[in-house]
Amino acid sequence: SDRPAILEVRDLHAWYGESHILHGVNFAVGEGEVVSLLGRNGAGKTTTLRAIMGLVGRRTGAIKHRGDEIVSLTPDRIARRGIAYCPEERGIFASLTVEENLMLPPVVQPGGLPVEEIYELFPNLKERRTGASGTRLSGGEQQMLAIGRILRTGAKLLLLDEPTEGLAPVIVQQIGASVRRLRDLGFTILLVEQNFHFAARLADRHYVIEHGVVVDRYSRDDINQRMGELNKLLGV
Ligand code: ATP
Repeated sequence: SDRPAILEVRDLHAWYGESHILHGVNFAVGEGEVVSLLGRNGAGKTTTLRAIMGLVGRRTGAIKHRGDEIVSLTPDRIARRGIAYCPEERGIFASLTVEENLMLPPVVQPGGLPVEEIYELFPNLKERRTGASGTRLSGGEQQMLAIGRILRTGAKLLLLDEPTEGLAPVIVQQIGASVRRLRDLGFTILLVEQNFHFAARLADRHYVIEHGVVVDRYSRDDINQRMGELNKLLGV
């Protein structure tokens, strides 16, 4: 990428207890890019996002955010730098309303989106703002809420873990449109995806993770030409 790196990951190793999961992951994300991490189940994609956030047992190597080393910071300090993680399980509080969920994460940096702007991005959420999140929200709306609430915090680097997981195609398209809009608004997005076609359409660049190592990289142009090879690699 020719953009200045907002995130540089070098020789990243990560462990859960005694299990050594990442074996030297290398990649970089330029400011304003959408970058995807592709790979089969269990390849280490989620662990890579969690390691960036400091949410694994132990990690070594280098993780540079805007040039500063963050590999030894606590999750709280990492979040306060303006890096937000949207987990696959979404983490919506069912007993709170949509708006209460939206207001929950603390603001960490200036420049977060006002609530009204978040509702413009995700009109479904506005319709349901006073409804309980547990009973009234579809899977897609829960995903929109999970993304929406990190936009308020001022985080500029968003780590999205399988945002399309379990969603109907029409909702997947809506999520894709929202991610594009977020890029237009200046957010940088690192995306983990099983939905390879979604990632191929959306991301500027891709890295393939296998057994805890980045084994390949693809530009937006490569991905169409090398689709067959990638299908085989990912087993889709
Ligand atoms: P998936 O789509 O299944 O999430 P992934 O590429 O994101 O795939 P990870 O979730 O990063 O894979 O898992 C990588 C490896 O780490 C797997 O072998 C998994 O069993 C193991 N693992 C994940 N979480 C833990 C944990 N909390 N404790 C121990 N091992 C774990």
